[in-house]
Amino acid sequence: MPIATVNPANGETLKTFDELDAGQIEQRLAAAHAAFRGYRTTAFSERARLLVGAAELLDREQDEIARTMTVEMGKPLAAARAEAAKCAKAMRWYARNAEGLLADEHPAQAEVADSGASRARVHYRPLGVVLAVMPWNFPLWQVVRFAAPALMAGNAGLLKHASNVPQTALYLGDLFRRAGFPDAVFQTLLVSSRAVEGILRDPRVAAATLTGSEPAGRAVAAVAGDEVKKTVLELGGSDPFVVMPSADVARAAEVAVTARVQNNGQSCIAAKRFLVHADVHEEFTRAFTAKMAALTVGDPLSESTDVGPLATEQGRADLEALVEDAVQRGATALCGGQRPDDLPEGLARGWFYEPTVLTGITPQMRIHREEAFGPVATVYRVRDLDEAVELANDTPFGLSSNVWTRDEAEQERFVRDIEAGGVFFNGMTASHPALPFGGVKRSGYGRELSGHGIREFCNVTTVWHA
Ligand code: NDP
Repeated sequence: MPIATVNPANGETLKTFDELDAGQIEQRLAAAHAAFRGYRTTAFSERARLLVGAAELLDREQDEIARTMTVEMGKPLAAARAEAAKCAKAMRWYARNAEGLLADEHPAQAEVADSGASRARVHYRPLGVVLAVMPWNFPLWQVVRFAAPALMAGNAGLLKHASNVPQTALYLGDLFRRAGFPDAVFQTLLVSSRAVEGILRDPRVAAATLTGSEPAGRAVAAVAGDEVKKTVLELGGSDPFVVMPSADVARAAEVAVTARVQNNGQSCIAAKRFLVHADVHEEFTRAFTAKMAALTVGDPLSESTDVGPLATEQGRADLEALVEDAVQRGATALCGGQRPDDLPEGLARGWFYEPTVLTGITPQMRIHREEAFGPVATVYRVRDLDEAVELANDTPFGLSSNVWTRDEAEQERFVRDIEAGGVFFNGMTASHPALPFGGVKRSGYGRELSGHGIREFCNVTTVWHA
């Protein structure tokens, strides 16, 4: 994929960028390594001051960067502004909390004595230069949720962003520099995915984090494994949204729409499979379908748009293929199932797809097992709690889950049995700086955000005194 800004709303190429050559990459790696050696000993208070400075810049420049994101990957402008605000909030959260999260730990004196020590403690040190391979879907947030904790821990960052969001990528490198972080503590590398292996194998790079597809995660983790380097992977998801009879069904249907179509349906934690108890299946499906069909698809720069285009032409082709496969094998589209045919002329070449609700899904259909990365929901009817749990887990993924029930025994059953990194009751999955974020199974491993996230790229050091 060339490194370029191509507006998904009309297919127009707005700006292309040259990739860094081998010499430029070498120079950036050397600079990152040198910068880390100085930065690793800075005080938490100094790092916090710089990060708050970055948050202030981001708040001031919110409209501008939101527009850039919308033009590069198609999310509605209001959502882009909210993303920028969320990033500033996460920066401030880590600026406030990092020192406490990484404070020395002191095991009980009896345990210390048992180890033969007069005293002992656990001390967190930064790991080094961390490579972040990031996707286009939340082009600011995915990066900031890595960068804020990594920088507060004293690490340096190298960003290899998705090839279709180069202007957002460059903005991020510039933001940390303008906030006053020492040169090369955080750098954007405009490189293709082919360059990742060489960078990751370089001894000056200590670890990697990747958010994106399963193949990309597998490729990066294989190289890191070969080099014995730490990785955190946040890959796809096909989160269930379970509705049981005790739920507020009208509210569930309303939230289900947002949970499915947020970010034009391109979110790893979007609810994708709707598992609805037979007693409320008809009521839920009717309300959900009506709301999906009523969404406004159109120009993401317009404030009245609910659903913009998919970010790439390939992304729309992949989604169309999933829907066609399902329909050919007997699924029914209650709404959507095609490209919109009533768009204004200026948007006719954009990569739009109608919000779609599919029923009659069987395990033979690809969409039953694969991630639908766009505004396409599958609705299943379940007999009882056992079948809901079984179907919720019948996926290669395990990122998060949404369960609508007011019955506490049912809630505890999901907490015990759901194979996912999160379970959200009577609401939709969302990330928050204070709560760990990540999955199991093919959704990846490791955690971002909270204390768990900041400790992923630390050298957990045992300090022992005879
Ligand atoms: P990719 O996983 O291909 O892209 C994510 C990042 O990984 C990009 O920076 C990309 O660079 C890089 N990358 C891709 N392949 C490799 C590789 N072999 N080695 C090193 N780096 C690599 O996402 P796509 O845009 O292709 O989307 C495809 C699917 O991925 C989606 O349909 C969705 O299922 C899933 N996805 C999940 C996301 C999530 O939030 N978990 C986010 C985005 C996608 P480059 O852009 O240069 O190829």
